[in-house]
Amino acid sequence: MKIGFIGLGIMGKPMVKNLLKAGYEVFAYDVVTANLENVTTAGAKVAVSSKMVAECCRIIITMLPNSPHVKAAVCGKNGVLESAKRGTILIDMSSIAPLASQEIAKACAEKEVKMLDAPVSGGEPKAIDGTLSIMVGGDRTVFESVKELLLTMGASVVYCGGIGAGNTTKLANQVVVACNIAACAEAFTLAKKAGVDPQLVFEAIRGGLAGSTVMNAKVPMMIEGNYRSGFKVDLHIKDLNNALETGHGVGSPLPLTAQVMEMLQTLRADGYGQEDHSALSRYYAKVSGEKIGM
Ligand code: NAD
Repeated sequence: MKIGFIGLGIMGKPMVKNLLKAGYEVFAYDVVTANLENVTTAGAKVAVSSKMVAECCRIIITMLPNSPHVKAAVCGKNGVLESAKRGTILIDMSSIAPLASQEIAKACAEKEVKMLDAPVSGGEPKAIDGTLSIMVGGDRTVFESVKELLLTMGASVVYCGGIGAGNTTKLANQVVVACNIAACAEAFTLAKKAGVDPQLVFEAIRGGLAGSTVMNAKVPMMIEGNYRSGFKVDLHIKDLNNALETGHGVGSPLPLTAQVMEMLQTLRADGYGQEDHSALSRYYAKVSGEKIGM
């Protein structure tokens, strides 16, 4: 079966490789031609535009940074909708605003193209292993028809509701992760400043109620002072922006998210936008004068 894939960044590349491994024929496109090299060596065919992807394939996956990029690739000039045939399924796996998913789905429906929003959690390592968590919104019958395909890239695929529900679920995930990292940075800075070794604090509390996947993944990075990017500060700012806008739109205030957003904005202003979001500990080092790690 032919699958179109648009957006070959950190996540898109390994996802395409898993599709190829599962035996799908992949037609790939990215605005940055150099990003295609990696997947063509693995066996993907190259398209010169999103429009051409839609000419070749009845199922198209997009994995792009944010709402404007998805709108451009789908609804813009030389985009998917210029050539998509009736009945084509578009699966947008980017993390974008739920409202944008609904707008794009509406434009798709006018061309009789069916759309699912299916953002992922797990980052590059799980994209490589094919063990992403995938949260899906849209028509349930369309979801059932592509569930097997999604399972070639993910370990869990959960149907969350109508179009936009996948991205709403992803925003909830990003709020929990951001606040959890900030809480870890705050708590471990307190311990260090009060004279207790952060490594011992980590060992003492990780198995209790305070322990979490976030603590296990991010506190060791803070202790090492290693902020090489896994999930960039800039990307988390994008997600929290979408969360705040969505929260304000539906009347659900997000005071904790707003606070962490300002910390992330401070990091970006200080030149750390490309670092991992565990760099939130840099914010606490700035305000307390104490570094958790080295
Ligand atoms: P990325 O910036 O590495 O890749 C995006 C790719 O899209 C780039 O190669 C870019 O050239 C391409 N692109 C941009 N506009 C385009 C267009 N109009 N047409 C074709 N190609 C275009 O981003 P990423 O890290 O792969 O993330 C993709 C999405 O997945 C984002 O929404 C992100 O929030 C989400 N996500 C990322 C991670 C992660 O750890 N990186 C984890 C979970 C979810």
